[in-house]
Amino acid sequence: MIESNEFRKRRKQIAKIIGHDSIAIIAAKGTCIRNGDAEYKYRPDSNFYYLSGCHEPNSLMVICPESDEGDDILFCQEINKNNETWNGPMLGLENAKHKLGFNRAYDIKSIDRIMPQLMQGRDKVYFMLGMDSDFDKRVVDWTHKVFSEKWAKSQAPHELISLKPFLDDMRVYKSKEEIKCLQKSADIAALGHVKMMQTCQPNMYEYQLNAEFMHTITYHNSSPSYLPIIGGGRNACILHYVKNNEKLIDGDLVLIDAGAEYDYYASDITRTFPVNGTFSKAQAEIYQIVLDAQTAALAKAKVGCHYNEFHDAAVKVITQGLLDLGLLTGDLKTNIEENSYIKFYMHKTGHWLGLDVHDCGEYSVDGLWVELEPNMVITIEPGIYISHDAKVPKKYRGIGVRIEDDVLITSKGNKVLSENVPKSIADIEEIMRKPV
Ligand code: CA
Repeated sequence: MIESNEFRKRRKQIAKIIGHDSIAIIAAKGTCIRNGDAEYKYRPDSNFYYLSGCHEPNSLMVICPESDEGDDILFCQEINKNNETWNGPMLGLENAKHKLGFNRAYDIKSIDRIMPQLMQGRDKVYFMLGMDSDFDKRVVDWTHKVFSEKWAKSQAPHELISLKPFLDDMRVYKSKEEIKCLQKSADIAALGHVKMMQTCQPNMYEYQLNAEFMHTITYHNSSPSYLPIIGGGRNACILHYVKNNEKLIDGDLVLIDAGAEYDYYASDITRTFPVNGTFSKAQAEIYQIVLDAQTAALAKAKVGCHYNEFHDAAVKVITQGLLDLGLLTGDLKTNIEENSYIKFYMHKTGHWLGLDVHDCGEYSVDGLWVELEPNMVITIEPGIYISHDAKVPKKYRGIGVRIEDDVLITSKGNKVLSENVPKSIADIEEIMRKPV
């Protein structure tokens, strides 16, 4: 659980970055209709939550450095007894100050009146420019309102700037408390993955494995961090397969990409295992290449490694492995140069992980790959996907394998946050033999 002090520190950092002649505006997303009048469960926008610690929809935060009344303001809903009767306790203006540590709090209904006053005298407005056209328009409308006041004309902001690169840069380095959340999220998802390995039987349906995962993670006060992918047999080769509605066949593999969200922090884990608990020779051959590729990528993923280097390490092992099995022909160098491995390995080896499963942060700047630094968290997820109609020996057709772990970069190397899920062939087969 991240304390209000940490959120406050982040707002101070934004204040320092933008400077006294600027103002930053960060809005929460509203609720979202699923169908009819039923809503999706509300989940705050990651940037808004990262700076506020606020869980309520219809809120908006302003950071105005060196203002006489303090740097930060939360606009939220006033407590409404009728609303509380239907929807439970609300934050309210007093708690915005006392629990979340904002200097000031105003009713969200007063925003169009107060915002132009807050903008007045500030040169620049920082916000998530270009991310939401309705909100872009609101910021322009508020700016226009300052302009339209004769007395304030010379004091209206004249630059609208994206806050995104600054927030991305902060969010890519995880604090101690964030790392604890990510570890917890990985631990919970790991329990779910182990449960699926232990309960899997031929003729079960993919959604029944999903049920085992969901039971485990919800039991631990967590929810999925994205739609789980549970692909038996050739479905494993559909990278974003989320139907999860087919029967698991004896002799097939099942690929499961599923993560948990704990305190809004995501885990993202993939394992591939045999439906009947024992890898066939052909499945084991492909699986071992992917595992070796992951080991090679993990060995690279340390401070100073450029983002492409651990991917390149995985590509090298995968390409060599496919050559050894005769699925590719020619030499290693040419196959890599000509990207011929791409028909079997068509995605990158990892992404940033944090509040979002594909977390914010650049992968390259000015054409140069970003270097890994301590407290960054990435996934490492090589895979091989052999289409059911590929021109390869029949025994390999329809095999899809991905192995994905969540990895914290430390000053000494790295730490696999998701290490509690077995991944060697022997360990997987052993855990699948054990009764639940
Ligand atoms: Ca994943």
